[in-house]
Amino acid sequence: MAFTHCEHRGIDAETVMRRLRLVGLVGRDNIMLGYVLQRDVIAPNVDPIIGGFLDSLLELDQFRSVIDKHTTPERLQKTLTGYLLSLGVDYERLDYFEERLRVGAAHNHIGVPQRVYHSAIRKLQSLLIRHIPKEIRDDDDRFDTLLEFILKITSLDLSLAAESYGHHRVMDLEESLRDERGEAQRLRRMAITDWLTDLHNHAYSRELLAEALEKAQQGGSPLCVIMADLDQFKRVNDRHGHLVGDHVLRIAAARMVSGARVGDEIARYGGEEFLFVLRNTSLDEAAEVAERVRLRINGDEIHHKRASIRVSLSLGIAEARSEDTVDTLIERADAALYAAKVAGRDRVFLEAAL
Ligand code: GH3
Ligand code: MG
Ligand code: MG
Repeated sequence: MAFTHCEHRGIDAETVMRRLRLVGLVGRDNIMLGYVLQRDVIAPNVDPIIGGFLDSLLELDQFRSVIDKHTTPERLQKTLTGYLLSLGVDYERLDYFEERLRVGAAHNHIGVPQRVYHSAIRKLQSLLIRHIPKEIRDDDDRFDTLLEFILKITSLDLSLAAESYGHHRVMDLEESLRDERGEAQRLRRMAITDWLTDLHNHAYSRELLAEALEKAQQGGSPLCVIMADLDQFKRVNDRHGHLVGDHVLRIAAARMVSGARVGDEIARYGGEEFLFVLRNTSLDEAAEVAERVRLRINGDEIHHKRASIRVSLSLGIAEARSEDTVDTLIERADAALYAAKVAGRDRVFLEAAL
């Protein structure tokens, strides 16, 4: 293999090592993570990742016009697949650098602006993070390690892209790495947040409940969960459309936050279903929180354009016991919620009342 791009930019084995040190990608552990990324994240999800990536690229006008002129979506798909399947694999080798530089240079050559190329790599970053499998997500340490690796390996691509575009000053690079660190926090937040309501997402709510339950059981402090579900929500969608339904979900979520206390954790557990984790809280105190949330939700109508919508919420509460698991605790809150629905909705039921 000829290393034309590397040679042009004076990149040899020594610069590769220096660059990897700068991004924090030296060492055997990191190299192994490249294989983990391929095996656990990329291989099982090639189609959705490439699909999501293509969709987002084609949404960018500047990218689409370039693609129309120089290639076809099918060819682009093939190129992207090759790019994805080699991401992070043996990245300490010179030919990895050569290939990444070549791709960057090719984009530059056909007129993809650097900003657009960067936002594509960032999009790829978030797609990879979204496809981290549940077993890894459930393990904080493994999740953080892999997340960090994804950020580093894509940062390396960003820095090589910058190089292909002719900006190879180390100062620029260091600045972009500092940006990446802020970016890491943003992505971590994105991975645990529900996209629609900004509450915690399902996976994260189970993680934090497991942790709260363990603490409560060890420390002997009370812990309650509330399972809540919007009433007759299907009707809202049927009458006003799904987009208005989404708007109502967002407002309802904000009202839940305002009705709960600081420190209460709230997640969108499913479509129109919400889970509250209330630490150091007795059943009576949880009932107060639930009642306040219920009144916030049904208090004022929600206005959207010309529609004026009234919604209500049913809530079921359960208190943790020493033998509980996340599932048994949620099951009892769910049973209380179901009883509240059967009894006529828009009410709070405690498990004790069952
Ligand atoms: P119930 O009082 O028994 O809970 O009645 P329901 O209509 O709320 O319950 P059902 O389970 O029959 O329907 C839930 C509805 O919630 C159907 C679904 O379209 C809607 N929904 C779920 N997720 C979303 C979402 O993200 N956006 C919108 N707009 N609607 C959603
Ligand atoms: Mg419902
Ligand atoms: Mg429901």
